[in-house]
Amino acid sequence: MTSIFLPPSTQKIDSDITQSVGVEMSVLRLDLMHPWVNGNKWYKLKYNLLEAKERNFTTLLTFGGAYSNHIFATAAAGKLFGLNTIGVIRGEETSPLNSTLSFAVQQGMQLVYLDRKTYRQRNTTELQTELRERFGEVFIIPEGGSNLNGVRGCMEILAQAEDFDVVCVACGTGTTFAGIVLSLSQQKRAIAFPILKNGAFLKQEIETLLQNYLSADLPVPTKSSCAWELVCDYHFGGYAKVNDELLKFSQQFQQMHGVTLDYVYTAKMFYGVMDLLKQGFFRKGDRILLIHTGGLQGNVGIKEKLIKA
Ligand SMILES: *Cc1c(COP(=O)(O)O)cnc(C)c1O
Repeated sequence: MTSIFLPPSTQKIDSDITQSVGVEMSVLRLDLMHPWVNGNKWYKLKYNLLEAKERNFTTLLTFGGAYSNHIFATAAAGKLFGLNTIGVIRGEETSPLNSTLSFAVQQGMQLVYLDRKTYRQRNTTELQTELRERFGEVFIIPEGGSNLNGVRGCMEILAQAEDFDVVCVACGTGTTFAGIVLSLSQQKRAIAFPILKNGAFLKQEIETLLQNYLSADLPVPTKSSCAWELVCDYHFGGYAKVNDELLKFSQQFQQMHGVTLDYVYTAKMFYGVMDLLKQGFFRKGDRILLIHTGGLQGNVGIKEKLIKA
């Protein structure tokens, strides 16, 4: 199942600031693993797809917004692995379809729309029962691939990474981060950068995810997970919000290092790391690993929003 994916590569980032502080910095390029099924969304899908196949489901059903990286990846993964896909999209249908959704349809995904109020019920048994009545035997994956199968897949993100001391991850739900924390030994540090406003609530969410994972009958690589913390100051106003400073940073980073960042997640985390570096947050000698979680297809959505504004 995984042979069509390039293993994630590690790219060194050299700059004046890393040199003057005396740290080593690299990026783990999950964005390059596959043209469509990449980033953390692939890792979160992996064990969901395996479970669906093992239990003889032929159709996946999942949820997302109109520019969702998860919808995009699920549609492509379904096609690659021979599963039908249904995407339940938040909000009204728009015509023509945006680039994310037209890609999903090209991959064979069937799209269904739920008004925002109904969409909020997406994790309830009631709505899921309704969806099963309507679509038959479907394997339901939560929005973002954010379940324990998702955590399990994310424990593999760092499997081939070069050695490091501190790892930095952009967080939406914290599922990816939880997997990473579970995969690391005690000597390592993991830092989560929530991209939502008031992201401090994620501390509890991540603790719950870790506990739920550890109490489920699932494989664990280490019994003692690493030290971790949240840095909540780099949300830039909240989900999918950007400003000129972030756009400029992203552009410069791309020019200097040849790494394109997505504006919703990785640009904010990379900006945060660079800023913290200037503030003396990291120690001299630290080997810092930034995870590029992908999501580049979503940049189209941000650009469209900027043009409209
Ligand atoms: C979905 C996503 C995240 C957030 O993942 P969580 O597991 O929800 O924390 C981070 N980066 C990118 C590029 C994403 O698409």
